[in-house]
Amino acid sequence: MRVLFVASEASPFAKTGGLADVAGALPGALARLGCDVTVVIPAYREAVANAGAHGLPIEPTGMTFGVPLGQLTVEASILRSRLPAKEGSPSVEVLLVANDECFDRPTLYGGPVDYPDNATRFTFFSRAVLELACRQERPFDVIHCHDWQTGLVPAYQKLLYQSWPMVSRARTVMTIHNMAYQGVFWQWDMLLTGLDWKYFNWEQMEFYGQLNLLKTGIVFADAVTTVSPTYAREIQSAPGGCGLEGLLASRSDALSGIVNGIDVDVWNPQTDPHIPRHYAEDSSADGKHAAKVALAARLGHAVPDDRPLIAFVGRLAEQKGVDLVIELLGRLGGTGRAHFVVLGTGNDGIEESLRRMASSFPETIDLVIGFDEGLAHLVQAAADMMLVPSRYEPCGLTQLYAMRYGTIPIVRATGGLVDTVVDTTPDTLRAGTASGFVFEAFDARALEQAVLRALDAHANADVWTSLVQRVMRQDWSWDSSAREYLTLYKGMARG
Ligand code: ADP
Repeated sequence: MRVLFVASEASPFAKTGGLADVAGALPGALARLGCDVTVVIPAYREAVANAGAHGLPIEPTGMTFGVPLGQLTVEASILRSRLPAKEGSPSVEVLLVANDECFDRPTLYGGPVDYPDNATRFTFFSRAVLELACRQERPFDVIHCHDWQTGLVPAYQKLLYQSWPMVSRARTVMTIHNMAYQGVFWQWDMLLTGLDWKYFNWEQMEFYGQLNLLKTGIVFADAVTTVSPTYAREIQSAPGGCGLEGLLASRSDALSGIVNGIDVDVWNPQTDPHIPRHYAEDSSADGKHAAKVALAARLGHAVPDDRPLIAFVGRLAEQKGVDLVIELLGRLGGTGRAHFVVLGTGNDGIEESLRRMASSFPETIDLVIGFDEGLAHLVQAAADMMLVPSRYEPCGLTQLYAMRYGTIPIVRATGGLVDTVVDTTPDTLRAGTASGFVFEAFDARALEQAVLRALDAHANADVWTSLVQRVMRQDWSWDSSAREYLTLYKGMARG
């Protein structure tokens, strides 16, 4: 099974969110199952620098070609690198599409405001992927695309590249990581795509008068997946579908949900270079104590060991329910029942509200504004509980990392959080399935109730130890997700 894996970011080359974790780890898991996988990403400035920083080879392939882009032909040159090698796994080739005007920039997508030419940049990337695939020596069985940045790829494969033997027989998969990001641009960007205006209609590429690249991918792909079964259901109706619910419901036969795995080598409390003392299920108390001490040193004061440490790590975006966290801090910050640490970056207004809250309770709230991968690992190791109160959550990785580190997730019942965390009740404790605390309503009181239940459980050493040991034993590796993707690929492949 030969798979071309197309994404706009992949760890450790370039990352803004969970997509990078998926694109950095799933290809290796597929390779372990015998797939021949090639990953393609843009050669961002950050990607080239990170390859060097991680000691990964990055070299020109010598392949350059012109990519049609509107009336122009724009040159792409292809670099080659590899995903970090894993023991017992074949190493996965990464091809990077270079064009300095498009990708030699300080950030991936712009920010705080998106780059005004993102439609140009990712139309170029998508078309370059097809041109690159056509120049390979063996045909692809599957082209697996991710998110709006690659939404044109299935359309190109079906509409423009049917006479190219390396790609014409491929089946395309479009994986949606988040319906809120659809790549919607003004209608005249249609000219960049080189596709006929007849496709600019409400059933295909048009969305309320604009060009919608995610919609394009959903329409033209042979299969559509998203990153959890619950999210696959939620997006077929409003508000989860963010305007595309009708289209998604009409494609329900081709739509499925596969829960993300995690990279269990990168996120492993037994080997993690970011934590001071490695630990396993039977030594988590010592490991967490050492991590708390190290975290206190990083933060410049004592993180008390006599109170539970409750953390939040994530983008400071509306999606993540940080407004509920802020309210919770207001309610519990002064009670002394827990210590809080918040690590995140994003929305200016949210950052400001968090700063105000942290300065109201400087003894109990530690706030770190910024993106710091190493600190995220240390916080996961040090914390007792991890808040994931999302408004919606396609899959969510933070709760999976938390469980691997023996940190009990407190989550809202939405999307992948439903599929990965089992609420702690007398029944689930007896059945041995409890793995966290789940609340339904998107409301600070509901979150607070869940936190108070978790604090009560924490006060009972037997209950807490059994919860911690259970979640640490769970297997969230990519292997089982990769098997599901492989089944999907095999079901679609042309005989
Ligand atoms: P999303 O992709 O919606 O941001 P996920 O839970 O799927 O959410 O993945 C988030 C990833 O980004 C996790 O790896 C998390 O640890 C990481 N992350 C988010 N914010 C930060 C931050 N400020 N510092 C370090 N890592 C972060």
